[in-house]
Amino acid sequence: MAVIQQPADQRFAEAREQITVTSPLTGQAIGQVPVFTREDVEAAARRARAAQPAWEAMGAKERARLLGRWWDTIWNNRSVVMQHIRRETGKNETGAFLEVFATDLLIGYYCNNAVRLLRPQNRKAIVPIKHHARVYYKPVGVVGAITPWNYPLLNAFCDLLAALFAGNTVLLKPSEVTPFTALYVVETMYQAGIPKDVIQVLTGDGRTGSEVVEVVDFVSFTGSTAVGRKIATRCAERLIGSTMEMGGKDAMLILNDADLELAASGTLVGALENSGQACVSTERVYVEDGIYDRYIERLKYYAGQIKQNGEAGMDVHVGSLTNERELLRAEEFIADAVAKGAKVLHGGQRRPDLGPLFFEPTILVNVNHDMRLMREETFGPLIPIMRVKDVDEAIRLANDSPYGLSGSIFSNNLKRAEHIATRIQSGDVSINSTKVVFGNVTVPMGGVKNSGIGRRNGPEGLLRFVEPQSILIDNRLFSKPNLTLFDPFLVNSAILLRALRRWIPFLRV
Ligand code: NAD
Repeated sequence: MAVIQQPADQRFAEAREQITVTSPLTGQAIGQVPVFTREDVEAAARRARAAQPAWEAMGAKERARLLGRWWDTIWNNRSVVMQHIRRETGKNETGAFLEVFATDLLIGYYCNNAVRLLRPQNRKAIVPIKHHARVYYKPVGVVGAITPWNYPLLNAFCDLLAALFAGNTVLLKPSEVTPFTALYVVETMYQAGIPKDVIQVLTGDGRTGSEVVEVVDFVSFTGSTAVGRKIATRCAERLIGSTMEMGGKDAMLILNDADLELAASGTLVGALENSGQACVSTERVYVEDGIYDRYIERLKYYAGQIKQNGEAGMDVHVGSLTNERELLRAEEFIADAVAKGAKVLHGGQRRPDLGPLFFEPTILVNVNHDMRLMREETFGPLIPIMRVKDVDEAIRLANDSPYGLSGSIFSNNLKRAEHIATRIQSGDVSINSTKVVFGNVTVPMGGVKNSGIGRRNGPEGLLRFVEPQSILIDNRLFSKPNLTLFDPFLVNSAILLRALRRWIPFLRV
């Protein structure tokens, strides 16, 4: 692909400060994007606000039809968007496919369910027959989506698509590290007939992001806990809603009765997808004493099979890191752990022969919670493994973290594993697999503790972008003019109803 020249947007006539985007695979420039200013963001918000009523009036069914038809064109040409993703992030081809596939599942889910979920709902009224209660779901208005670089398709679009299905217009601030995937995808939306002001991409860095927070009615943020905390604070001051999808330190528990092959290979998948640069990456592994030695042997075997390079092909297991920051942090964490007694069992080195930001998948043992790699988010290909005496110790250590995003358990006793899962403080847990919750778009995904507020996917992920409006209709049966809320008739009815509710289920609310 050639260097991308971002076409000058006629709506931004003046020259803007530019950000140069580089490819992690080569270190070469891919292109430049402007840093949108406060005036640009305010102008975009005005256009988004003006466009929103027509988008809402189109109705959920028609919006779903339009978004579904648009997505079909992306799916049919997915190799193009996968090239954009790989070029900006350096991830392997299966990683790029995962982004397209998970987005496809999400769009399919909302195409099939958004109309039903957004339909006005009848609720039981306190005074039956006389009163009718209904809840309408109205879009919040203009949604700001502020997104990270690690999944420039999936993490940029999975939240904002729900906002669009719900009838909102959107200002998307993609990461300054990976803006071109978003620009490409939104361009295809315009080509498919989605009006230009319904979704606008505002490129730039944190300065542009903070301006977006000032002008929207709701913020959907995905990124680091440090930035999320600032944005959530500002949203609270502005009294607008927000959801925060932030960092993680996901624990994996491997129990004595686990299938060794699944557990060992699953550890590598959990920790190394996108070179560990996933919010739901496995960052800590706790292995029960009885299986530990055999598990380590199988883990080393599978680690030896890993193919790492920057080439295309579905058989490449691990690609490059995306930023130098992640590479330096991985090295710092290894040095800190080794200085405190950890041992590197596999990897531990840069691979400049493959590209400037390649780092080997690295397995560490003899680790403990005094080490940074067991407490802080690594966001790199490190797999620290800790031997534990039993399940209770594993659960205690798993919960000994300020984060609570995701987690996983390997065990052949599914019922027991499910019960153990409920004792883990996280937004989701996968059993005998990792990260599958994200792709199961019917269930909510999000974090507890410092990992987040709110949920994406499922009904919850759609309904966060609407304001419920309750409408109560009194059909005037037995109504008479009166000067207090309770006239004698209502007082007597209320007393009678309370007594009857005990015996007549129909009257209960
Ligand atoms: P980041 O917080 O540095 O940046 C995220 C976005 O926020 C970027 O678009 C950035 O320009 C913008 N931003 C930065 N400062 C801002 C400010 N003051 N106001 C408004 N916007 C601002 O995160 P990152 O480095 O891009 O992504 C990595 C982090 O994201 C990791 O911590 C990872 O765990 C997290 N993440 C979480 C999830 C999840 O679903 N929970 C998913 C992916 C990534």
